[in-house]
Amino acid sequence: MKRIAVIGTGISGMAIARLLHRQHDITVFEAASRPGGHTHTVEVHQDQPQGHQSWPVDTGFIVFNHRTYPAFTRMIEALGVKSRASDMSFSVRDDQRDLEYLGGHLSGLFAQKRNLVRPAFWRMIREIIRFYGEARELLAEDCSEGLAPLGPWLRRRGYSRFFIDEHLIPMAASIWSAPPKAIIAFPARFFVRFLANHGMIDLRDRPRWRTVCGGSQAYLKALIAPFQDRIRCATPIHSVAHISAGVRLLGKQVDEIFDEVVIAAHADQALSMRYAGGDLDRDEEETLKAFPYQANMAWLHTDTRFLPRRQQAWAAWNYYRAPGGSQRPVTLTYNLNILQGHVADQQFLVTLNPHRPIDRRQVLRRIQYAHPLYTQHSPQAQSRHKSISGRGGIHYCGAYWGYGFHEDGLQSALRVARHMGLEETW
Ligand SMILES: Cc1cc2nc3c(=O)[nH]c(=O)nc-3n(C[C@H](O)[C@H](O)[C@H](O)COP(=O)(O)OP(=O)(O)OC[C@H]3O[C@@H](n4cnc5c(N)ncnc54)[C@H](O)[C@@H]3O)c2cc1C
Repeated sequence: MKRIAVIGTGISGMAIARLLHRQHDITVFEAASRPGGHTHTVEVHQDQPQGHQSWPVDTGFIVFNHRTYPAFTRMIEALGVKSRASDMSFSVRDDQRDLEYLGGHLSGLFAQKRNLVRPAFWRMIREIIRFYGEARELLAEDCSEGLAPLGPWLRRRGYSRFFIDEHLIPMAASIWSAPPKAIIAFPARFFVRFLANHGMIDLRDRPRWRTVCGGSQAYLKALIAPFQDRIRCATPIHSVAHISAGVRLLGKQVDEIFDEVVIAAHADQALSMRYAGGDLDRDEEETLKAFPYQANMAWLHTDTRFLPRRQQAWAAWNYYRAPGGSQRPVTLTYNLNILQGHVADQQFLVTLNPHRPIDRRQVLRRIQYAHPLYTQHSPQAQSRHKSISGRGGIHYCGAYWGYGFHEDGLQSALRVARHMGLEETW
């Protein structure tokens, strides 16, 4: 039995802690006052004429599917956690162009009748079909073109500004919660490979999305139940360093030595802990530096002015093309009534980076999140995991080792578990 510390309680940290706790003496450190990281359900309570009601509203991780989240599916099934069908409809609203549409079906595309007589809109629809065909070719060809950033790749192939601004960027910026400028810099092949791996390249037979019954807190509770007493919340770690006796962790209330440590925080946070440790090597530094992060402020509220003006165009994910240029963070509103199936008089919405103030009376919570951005250096850095993780007893996991999603976080934890000789038994 070893003394092992886990830093961070997102999906990555919780999963590795669960796999470790049976055989080892574990301590889990979490900077926030609650466990879960991006697994974050807020219980909204309201007194209604028919009595007191509450809804478990997810503000971070919301959806998964059986096809492209195999490990997550196995895990929640083993934990006896139920899920239900969700809806992944997507809308775009651009007030400058006086445009809005709901993707996916004809009535939504033409919810705004003017779209019927907009040549650029018809061209966009043709380009959507062309894009998915060409994306498949890019994957099949082993060409250097795929290393190019997405923006120049699209321009070289003659895609219209309208298609890029009103479809491709909204879709990608919503998936990664990234500013348009960062999306354009994503490596083309990385982007397309993600779409292919997630069944999004096929216009038919797309994965069916699901959501956890009772909110993502339901799986979080089941996952951490056996080691809950080992989690120390509100205990940020500032420094992680190799010493002859093991690995030393320092924080305001911490000065402890462990045999091994798993850092399950974001890459930039891991980097800062290792810088403070003072014995970071070049390989580790170069690798962790390859994942910049985008801070996104999420507001939980009920102000429907953040949805398309036409109710027929309301979707699960609603992109708002805000003025202010491509550097501006994404403005995106998740409709949790649609995503989680809440039945309520008001719409429970989470808006990332609102473009204008939300009606104060309708604000329920404000939460700071950060998402990894991917650059041309990221795929190569990901391939170096083996050489930096586990060295001297310091392991790394987190969703940034994949595409930034829940399955990626879990897969990264399973990889560390395999390296430590642990079985995947929940
Ligand atoms: C609004 C939003 C919606 C999303 N929706 C989905 C979705 O529907 N489906 C999906 O697959 N993915 C979704 N994601 C992506 C999500 O980021 C990943 O799925 C995943 O949850 C990230 O897990 P992680 O373990 O890598 O990081 P996190 O969940 O961020 O966990 C990292 C933890 O480390 C802690 N930490 C950091 N520094 C320290 C320190 N110094 N000391 C101690 N603790 C520290 C943090 O407080 C945090 O708890 C969403 C993300 C957001 C923000």
